[in-house]
Amino acid sequence: MTDATKYDVVIVGGGLMGASAAFFLATRHNASVALLERGRVGAQASGVNFGNVRRQGRPFIQLPLAHHARDIWGRLPALIGEDCEFLPTGHLKIAFDEESLAALEAYNAEARHWSLSLTLVGVNRLRAEYPFLGSGALGASFSPEDGHANPRLVAPAFGRAARRAGAHILEQCEVIGATRQGEGFIIETADGRILRAPILINSAGAWSNRFAAGFGESVPMEARGPQMGVTESLPYFVSPVLGTGDSSFYMRQVKRGSVVFGGGAHVAVDLSDPRPRPRPTHLLTQLRSLTRFLPSMAGVQVVRTWSGVEGYLPDKLPALGWSAKVPGLLHAFGFSGHGFQLGPGVGSVLADLAATGDTKVPIEPFSIQRFAGNGPAKTSPAAPSSGGAR
Ligand SMILES: Cc1cc2nc3c(=O)[nH]c(=O)nc-3n(C[C@H](O)[C@H](O)[C@H](O)COP(=O)(O)OP(=O)(O)OC[C@H]3O[C@@H](n4cnc5c(N)ncnc54)[C@H](O)[C@@H]3O)c2cc1C
Repeated sequence: MTDATKYDVVIVGGGLMGASAAFFLATRHNASVALLERGRVGAQASGVNFGNVRRQGRPFIQLPLAHHARDIWGRLPALIGEDCEFLPTGHLKIAFDEESLAALEAYNAEARHWSLSLTLVGVNRLRAEYPFLGSGALGASFSPEDGHANPRLVAPAFGRAARRAGAHILEQCEVIGATRQGEGFIIETADGRILRAPILINSAGAWSNRFAAGFGESVPMEARGPQMGVTESLPYFVSPVLGTGDSSFYMRQVKRGSVVFGGGAHVAVDLSDPRPRPRPTHLLTQLRSLTRFLPSMAGVQVVRTWSGVEGYLPDKLPALGWSAKVPGLLHAFGFSGHGFQLGPGVGSVLADLAATGDTKVPIEPFSIQRFAGNGPAKTSPAAPSSGGAR
């Protein structure tokens, strides 16, 4: 116990959610912020994901938040001084059977009511524009303003920009305890610091349930690892991100030529190991999908495979917003394999909630209260209470 420091907001976890929240708190609200990250900013799920900045295919109730995030993706250079290799190349979801085609058409029709413009691509146009696709493709849906980015770059770039704006970004700084006492929180770290703040943001990724449980809000979250792979560099041949209608397989080509791919079964994860090992059997399944998609890739070399740790909630929606039990506590976790696109929007929403008590983006469906069946969610830090995580 060597230090006692007061902040407006303390953030636990420096993934994309925590780093972008720190950035928007420091720049938009001039708040004093400490972000505490056990390892390096953006080294977990936020730094090892596939890089899909995709809105099509999301549950419709997630689209307002996804649109808010997409607006920020398009303004990264102005906001944080780097584009993080975000390219709005478009995203093509391809159907290989009649059932998937019907599902794409139904999604397409409803998406219009949620301000997402998609285009159906018939089989003839699909073959003409994407001649390298396997012959089983029946049709597709194209989302012109989706795209991809380099996940390794994004959270660290937000962290650096937050630090430039005055946020305290503390790496190699593990939080070992957080309790609510009096008017705020007391946060303890493994290296002996004690921090105090009226607002605490729980954005510890797949490890967030530990903090939620400590405050009496445990959720049925499972940790799993999607498996990714990347090929040798090939001549550049495809710009949009491609995927199957059911997301069982997806791929993108980076400008340097490598094809990044993912999809299929997840790797089981032990939360004590932040680097789950990819499975060779999953790779074989993915390679069968890859050659079905792109028969010309049958002889390609795979140069690396990897996985990461992600928290999945049963309804595949995140827990985002105020705690239903503890005033001043904000949760942002359980992004269930699709939080990268949402990340900058989540940070923006968290910052507004923490600084003003409210957000213009509708996030009610993501309330943690849906797992508890307890009293109404608080919308601002008010009465003192107790409880905590250790
Ligand atoms: C392999 C893979 C592929 C994916 N592909 C995509 C995709 O293409 N598109 C998409 O939209 N989403 C994708 N996702 C999901 C997306 O990456 C995540 O939803 C998102 O990055 C979650 O961000 P986060 O900040 O909540 O979590 P994280 O990035 O995991 O950050 C949480 C941080 O909290 C820190 N932490 C934990 N405990 C403590 C503690 N006690 N003290 C201090 N710090 C702590 C961790 O070290 C970690 O850095 C993928 C995920 C994976 C794993």
